[in-house]
Amino acid sequence: MSDYILRLTIENSAVAFIALTTETVNEAARIHRSSPVVTAAMGRLITAAAMMGAQLKNDSDLLTLSIKSDGPVGGIVATADKNSNVKAYPFVSDVDLPLNSNGKLDVAACVGKGNLNVVMDLGLKEPYVGTVKLVSGEIGDDLAYYFAVSEQIPSAVCLGVLVDRDYSVAQAGGFLMQMLPGASDELITRIEEKLSGFDAITSFYESGKTPYDLAEYFFEGLNYTVTEKTDVNFFCNCSREKVEKALISLGREELAKILNEDGKATLHCHFCRKDYSFDEGDLKRILES
Ligand SMILES: [Zn+2]
Repeated sequence: MSDYILRLTIENSAVAFIALTTETVNEAARIHRSSPVVTAAMGRLITAAAMMGAQLKNDSDLLTLSIKSDGPVGGIVATADKNSNVKAYPFVSDVDLPLNSNGKLDVAACVGKGNLNVVMDLGLKEPYVGTVKLVSGEIGDDLAYYFAVSEQIPSAVCLGVLVDRDYSVAQAGGFLMQMLPGASDELITRIEEKLSGFDAITSFYESGKTPYDLAEYFFEGLNYTVTEKTDVNFFCNCSREKVEKALISLGREELAKILNEDGKATLHCHFCRKDYSFDEGDLKRILES
């Protein structure tokens, strides 16, 4: 995997993340056999989750972005940890829509109206949950709106996924900048100007440039430092043990019912599409233990 995220500080007044996520999004598309517009929507959410996850403190912390919406995709879930291990799944993976008026994949129509949930599980009793209404369904705008409303942080967000004719991912990446408390509006205005003249993060990468080049493009002439570089991977941490725990949590009564009625159970991992089968012997053993 050659995907990574750069973390930068700018003039002590902002922190920024620049992500290259092509292979990670491609792996998600391969696993879910998603159509181009679903790949674009899921890829944007994956990229955002990876950049937000990079801000977590502990290895066991988990960030989840979930969209529930009335568009044909129905919803998308993406999670990331501090080490940028990300996973995701769309509710419906084979949505086919005409291109939008700009000739681009119509992510907004695919997502539709609904809510964006941000859940941060920091190992405390209750996870932090923030919810906003989707403002555009393009995901980047929706996240900027979330930061402004829910966390009151002025932010600039840019997410992009370019899908090839063969449905593989040609380029994927993102940019996220968040102002630190007390920072002047000057920097965010400057970045907004840069972003408005910016074609797309994917065409930038398509021309052979890197996240380091993107940092220079945005922050040229400013005092900025790359403070961290983290590899990004699609990684599902499901296991037979975890699935067995989920079975146990159903309770003795429910398990006995499954054993009597079906004599077996198959549990499916939405994130990596792996199936875990438990036969009669397995179920008896779980019931007895
Ligand atoms: Zn899995």
